[in-house]
Amino acid sequence: MRLLTHREIERLYRILSQSMPGRSSSAKGPKGQPDPFRTCLACILSAQSLDQNTAVATKALFKLARTPRTMLKLSVEQVAAAIKPCGLYNVKARSIQGFCATLIDEFDGIVPQTRDELLRLPGIGRKCADIVLQFAFGQPTIAVDTHVFRVCNRTGLAPGKTADKTADALLARTPEWAVEQAHFWLIQFGKRICVARTPRCDVCPLNQMCRDYIDRQPVPMIR
Ligand code: SF4
Repeated sequence: MRLLTHREIERLYRILSQSMPGRSSSAKGPKGQPDPFRTCLACILSAQSLDQNTAVATKALFKLARTPRTMLKLSVEQVAAAIKPCGLYNVKARSIQGFCATLIDEFDGIVPQTRDELLRLPGIGRKCADIVLQFAFGQPTIAVDTHVFRVCNRTGLAPGKTADKTADALLARTPEWAVEQAHFWLIQFGKRICVARTPRCDVCPLNQMCRDYIDRQPVPMIR
């Protein structure tokens, strides 16, 4: 895959900034979670779950407990019952209990502020760690979900075989002015235009630079 040039990347972000909604300045965090601990749990619950189901599960869980220590007083079965709407509830309940136990044992119950430390917590992968770093702690990073991963690979913005590789490349190749909103612009673009099954290339504002689109065009005949 040929990479976009730096000039093209600048243009890509200018176009997205004008055509896609960014993050509301009043937003408290992903899905409205106000603090790092609850941001972590909301991320664990959101795996393979629709936003509306995650919101229901998150609300039910935080009605039962709001701190790592009170969460550990619940049984895995109680947690699983509360978070049932978001699916994979037995696995996620065990992750939540493991997350809380490790948070207390290794970090005195305080969510750490580095990626390496966050990744030591059960249930926290690279995407969750980046979400927590950016939205709970205001650090400059870009979380890569399935939509961002797809757009980065198709366009040539930051190709990578894995989401982690794409995340590294995306952060390195995104201009400073775009880092804060890039996650939101790319997700909205992936949901509205560069959708998974049938991307809307005909109306896509990036089709003149998109490597995947250019590679699919017929080669002109030379007579
Ligand atoms: S041209 Fe098509 S594949 Fe490329 S970014 Fe646009 S919608 Fe996605």
